[in-house]
Amino acid sequence: MNELISQFSRRKFLLTAGASAVGAVVLNGCLGNPPDSSGNTQAQPVAAVNISPEQAPETPNVKLGYIPIVEAAPLIIAQEKGFFAKYGMSGVELSKQASWGSARDNLEIGSQGGGIDGGQWQMPMPHLITEGVITKGNVKIPMYVLAQLITHGNGIAISNKWKGQGIDLKLTQGQAVVSQLKSKGNIFKAAYTFPNVNQDFWIRYWLAAGGINPDQDIDLISVPSAQTVANMKTETMDAFSTGDPWPYRIVKDKIGYMAVLTAEIWKNHPEEYFAMKADWVDKNPKATKALLKGIMEAQQWLDNFANRAEAATILSGRNYFNLPTEILINPFQGKYDMGDGRVIDDKSMAAYYWKDERGSVSYPYKSHDLWFLTESVRWGFLPPDTLTNAKALIDRVNREDIWKQAATEAGIAAADIPTSTSRGVETFFDGVKFDPENPTAYLQSLKIKKVNV
Ligand code: CA
Repeated sequence: MNELISQFSRRKFLLTAGASAVGAVVLNGCLGNPPDSSGNTQAQPVAAVNISPEQAPETPNVKLGYIPIVEAAPLIIAQEKGFFAKYGMSGVELSKQASWGSARDNLEIGSQGGGIDGGQWQMPMPHLITEGVITKGNVKIPMYVLAQLITHGNGIAISNKWKGQGIDLKLTQGQAVVSQLKSKGNIFKAAYTFPNVNQDFWIRYWLAAGGINPDQDIDLISVPSAQTVANMKTETMDAFSTGDPWPYRIVKDKIGYMAVLTAEIWKNHPEEYFAMKADWVDKNPKATKALLKGIMEAQQWLDNFANRAEAATILSGRNYFNLPTEILINPFQGKYDMGDGRVIDDKSMAAYYWKDERGSVSYPYKSHDLWFLTESVRWGFLPPDTLTNAKALIDRVNREDIWKQAATEAGIAAADIPTSTSRGVETFFDGVKFDPENPTAYLQSLKIKKVNV
């Protein structure tokens, strides 16, 4: 009976808070809040209503980093639609990061030093930072993975000079092209924005499936987005692995075409994540759950396709991506002009934030952390014994338990809360399977790899 009453008052709270969030949006406008002198976007204070004392955040203030690509949408929408404020996080500051390297450096500093407490990450950056693999002086900075932000929304763009020459989804002529280039001492050059994480993995997977060894047959390097686009314009860069809106922009600006969407390489794949410094979470467990509730609500809002035109307007605004809105409109509906005559018009290929054909997008499956670590071993980024210790590392970093608590408190339907930390067997476009119960068998099944298994 008591539980019924409390559920009833919680529903009532949600309704009231929803109405207040609408008010907040009107106040804030749709194009983002004015940036402060540092260029950061500060939330307008919005009064939180009727948050039970047990769930009231320890602090309303937090600074979260993001990169201006569609993966950041749940953070930006939670801020702009008042979903953070609704759960008591009225002092969220979203801070645009110049690069993944700066995001890492700012996390090391923390918000008390002018840096950030957490935000958007490629994988397995939280694990690498936790283990001190990519930090200054290899200092271990424990982090927690708290939610997945998105699936899909990424792709591989190829310079226009290769149009019609078989650098396509299946790399029909890929091997021939790159070996001919290499023999002439003019090696095929491809870029991603940060080494040993998602964008690096996607292009490596695709190349290797097409018979190209990314470590031997081509030059694969880390280059900032803007510079890569400039290099593709002058034809000194051949390929670029990155997130929307960059690949689409390359097509619109007629610099190149898109050979492949990541949704084609691995349908419903894990992409970027929300993760925070462990000490911030340990100190502010209720505030962490309040952030998660705001993110979950934003993810559900984003998955309503009727909201996507508005989402495109907010994201493309001057304070966020600062791009023409139309660049986001079509990809958000699963419509991709690939730039080489191929057109994809399939909603299931669009970015999803809350749910996809496999179930929850937002829930951080431990089996996906394991794939990122396994792929790191495949390419020699991490030593083979990583797999022996993977479970312990994932159990420390992946806090799906906090996600579940937040989801339960937010009244998410039980059907939308996964009961297993594993999504089970994953299948890639070349037929290769990853069984999280046996990552070694996956490594053995791959023809092109750096590790000996
Ligand atoms: Ca990405």
